[in-house]
Amino acid sequence: MRRQRSTKIVATLGPSSSDYEMIRRLHESGADVFRLNMSHGSHDEIRERHRIIREVERDLDSTIGILADLQGPKLRVGVFARGEEDLAEGARFRLDLKDAEGDATRVTLPHPEIFEVLEAGAELLVNDGKIRLKVVECGADFADCEVMAGGTISNRKGVNVPDVVLPLAALSEKDRSDLEFVCQLGVDWLALSFVQRPEDVTEARELAAGRAAILSKIEKPAAVKAFDAILDVSDGIMVARGDLGVELPVQNVPPIQKRLVRRCRAVAKPVIVATQMLESMIESPMPTRAEVSDVAAAIYEGTDAVMLSAESAAGQYPAEAVTTMDRVAREVESDPTYREIIEASRRTVRGSVADGIVVAAREIAETTDIRVICCFTHGGTTALLTARERPHVPILALTPLRGTARKLTLSWGVNCVMTNELSRFKQAVVNGARAARSRGFATEADQIVVTAGVPFNQPGTTNILRVAPCEERLIFASDPE
Ligand code: PGA
Ligand code: MN
Repeated sequence: MRRQRSTKIVATLGPSSSDYEMIRRLHESGADVFRLNMSHGSHDEIRERHRIIREVERDLDSTIGILADLQGPKLRVGVFARGEEDLAEGARFRLDLKDAEGDATRVTLPHPEIFEVLEAGAELLVNDGKIRLKVVECGADFADCEVMAGGTISNRKGVNVPDVVLPLAALSEKDRSDLEFVCQLGVDWLALSFVQRPEDVTEARELAAGRAAILSKIEKPAAVKAFDAILDVSDGIMVARGDLGVELPVQNVPPIQKRLVRRCRAVAKPVIVATQMLESMIESPMPTRAEVSDVAAAIYEGTDAVMLSAESAAGQYPAEAVTTMDRVAREVESDPTYREIIEASRRTVRGSVADGIVVAAREIAETTDIRVICCFTHGGTTALLTARERPHVPILALTPLRGTARKLTLSWGVNCVMTNELSRFKQAVVNGARAARSRGFATEADQIVVTAGVPFNQPGTTNILRVAPCEERLIFASDPE
């Protein structure tokens, strides 16, 4: 499906968006990638949503990315005898390992590893940070806390411990079984929650064994500190502002978002800005001005993708939320100020031949009236490097690999078209021109830029750039081989 924008939209599926009609409508309205959230939904539900996405993809002859989001080592309290309790500021409250229902004085925190690293003074945040507990005294199986900010605590509420690097395995038992399940279903991206160190990413990568690209969610202070090392071993990044804003003061989130988006672009890896982007649309068909401004700000920064969570998964207006993002993206991208910002933040990379070729392709498109950059790509690297340039014309990536096309749905400006395996460059030019014409990127009167690596099928060989006519007869008349 041809989009009139370069920024991509990720929509989380859930109870509000689980049947064929709605998933198809979300894709038609603008969702390029669907997120399957493994924290919610049974394997049967996930399998069914996955099946529907692939059916929509087939029916519309489109390319859709699927991102499976693993829950990760999220801490949760146990249950309460009465279901919930009110904690008052200044009161004492104990977390322990007892196998008993909680009350107003204590509750189970069923994670023995945590007690080993807790120290007096550490803060525990419950229920999205609404309740703040400060450790006064602790031992191997308990932590006595003072309630710094009170509120209602209820069954299985999440607990964040920002101050310490938790000695937790990157992947819980559930994560491992979910990972295997989704890899067997076939997903394009695996998102890892609560990544703390680069080793967490390499561990998941080994388990995925090439079956999915790995996206690290940055939602822990430790991950912000180790960001460069984590980025190095990841294929993509999510600025997971929900938990990040609990673990760090909320005002720290915007500068982190800006820095992460820039770093990702510099190394040509896709980045998603996520959470609460259109939060009020869970219940309202109209976003707030501030939300629209937030989505716009992320796009002005040059993010690859913006994401909907509960808005599309559990809200009352999933399609309206996608449409809102689509409209905001189109408006921002047509603003001359957007191009100014994008161009001012471009870092010319001098490294490989491929770096030179993508810069040249962009510059040729800029200095002439060429309307599309076609690139042939196997693993997707040339398309990613071209996207890093953020050219003002669309990128048409041609690939013989479905998996590559689907993975690239997350990347800024990349439109994917399937092509057969090629052996000659002239065939690449012909196929590029055909795809550009049939998808409405160019007409017979236009010229196109084509980049490729020859011989084909060898990763990392981008070494040809050609400006070619779009009219088939002229290609054959002019092309030397
Ligand atoms: P979540 O991750 O929705 O899985 O919690 C995103 C975030 O924390 O922002
Ligand atoms: Mn999160």
